[in-house]
Amino acid sequence: MSPTKLPSFTARSYDFHEYVPVRNWIGGQWVDGSTGQWLAIENPRHGMPIGKMTLSGAPDVAAAVESAKKALPAWKNTPMRERAQVLYKLKQLMERDLEELCWLVSHENGKTYAEGKGDVEKGIECVEYAASLHMMADGGQLDVSRGVNCRVVYEPLGIVAGIVPFNFPVMVPLWMVPNALMAGNAFILKPSEVVPYGAMKLAELLKEAGLADGLFQVVNGQRDAVEAIVDHPDIQAVGFVGSTKVAKILYGRGAATGKRMLCLGSAKNHVIVVPDADVELTSSNVVASSYGCAGQRCMASSLMVAVGDVQNIIDATVAHVKKIELGKDMGSVISKAAVERIHNYIDQAEKLGAKVLVDGRGAKLAGNNGYWVGPTVLDNVTLDMPAGCEEIFGPVLSIVHQPTLDAAISLQHKSLYANGAAIFTTRGAVARYAVEKLEAGMVGVNVGVPVPREPFSFGGFNSSKFGHGDMTGWDGFRFWSRPKKITEKWAVYSDASWMS
Ligand code: NAD
Repeated sequence: MSPTKLPSFTARSYDFHEYVPVRNWIGGQWVDGSTGQWLAIENPRHGMPIGKMTLSGAPDVAAAVESAKKALPAWKNTPMRERAQVLYKLKQLMERDLEELCWLVSHENGKTYAEGKGDVEKGIECVEYAASLHMMADGGQLDVSRGVNCRVVYEPLGIVAGIVPFNFPVMVPLWMVPNALMAGNAFILKPSEVVPYGAMKLAELLKEAGLADGLFQVVNGQRDAVEAIVDHPDIQAVGFVGSTKVAKILYGRGAATGKRMLCLGSAKNHVIVVPDADVELTSSNVVASSYGCAGQRCMASSLMVAVGDVQNIIDATVAHVKKIELGKDMGSVISKAAVERIHNYIDQAEKLGAKVLVDGRGAKLAGNNGYWVGPTVLDNVTLDMPAGCEEIFGPVLSIVHQPTLDAAISLQHKSLYANGAAIFTTRGAVARYAVEKLEAGMVGVNVGVPVPREPFSFGGFNSSKFGHGDMTGWDGFRFWSRPKKITEKWAVYSDASWMS
């Protein structure tokens, strides 16, 4: 199969559109996977297939590795400043095709157009960061003794890969790809099998931006493709973003072979609300955080820890939630299975004594068979309920009550996950105390989604991340490169030191 130019994704509204089939992008060609099998891809807003995706296995990963090997030597020898030119161009092309990309994300993921735009714009920010790396990755150098100089240079690892989840089809690949390319690697991406179109468009744009064939490749598939990547002896490093269950398995599997692994997992983000918190700021931010992207964000505030009497803030939160218009302010969830899973969490919590303040079960959009769950608020949740301690990954805010700030903080410490956490307060001393005590990789003060903007790096603690360092920013660049330390003596000085 040879065409390198895809038909463009022309959908520009929420109306249903069919898309082209998704093939693998290997060595600059669109090719079918070796299994001969295809998976239907659905538009979750409509609950109908928009296309189909080829399924791959070990032979497809091997083919991508062979193409990468051919392309690598020239790319390794390309100065970083020149590598950056591809990313400058990619940024321009993403901006040129912004509308198309945003609608594409909306169609394959079910996000609203505005949320799709958030995905793409944050992806562009990651491209911008990587495109500036040649200004920052100059390494350090020091005269460590008379006539003796030490310096460090960052070398590429070689062939590296990324495995990504469904919830941000453009941004999460771009957490990895630009930094890895700037470091001089060849990258193989395994997109989520539920949303493979974003990666297809990225392949097209990187080609147009001038990246040589074999340096960015896409292998589509499920578990077989993932395991083939993690097991391949010539792939040096793997970045993974997805559920903790899979992150932990893959981290162990890859590390056992000596591979460099960084695996980001699930979340249950606690948001502590104290009585002095600003009512409007808190309620509006919590609602934006909990229900944005239908709660399918690893930084969603899924658990409000209400300290003391904050009934006024809970009432204001419920009032905001009731104004959310399905299909306009909030998109669908990803699948029928997700609807069932989310309903189960709500049913169980209710049976175990939680009060359903706003009930999103059974929500529908008129004339539409998509996968909808309305925004839901559960009060009087306890940590022994599944809704209190597990990741629901849907538009559900669970409220637990605690008498003191210390009790709220100890509750957060009991969580298996530690991606994000936040405190809402108007008192600096309270904010500072909470920031120091909360155990999470990303902490917010009066911010519901404390996602660090570039250049600050993204990554959680505990079971929300396996591996060292973070996924984006300077840590990301370090993950995809190896530091070579060089010690040189070009003049002979007489010195008492053992180096001279
Ligand atoms: P997932 O773990 O089901 O899938 C992620 C990737 O792993 C996909 O590409 C999938 O094909 C692959 N995969 C799934 N099962 C596998 C298996 N058994 N063996 C090998 N590979 C497998 O996650 P998802 O449902 O796509 O995404 C939602 C999850 O991702 C949530 O838990 C969310 O919190 C998490 N997430 C975390 C972050 C973060 O930065 N920590 C960011 C986004 C999403």
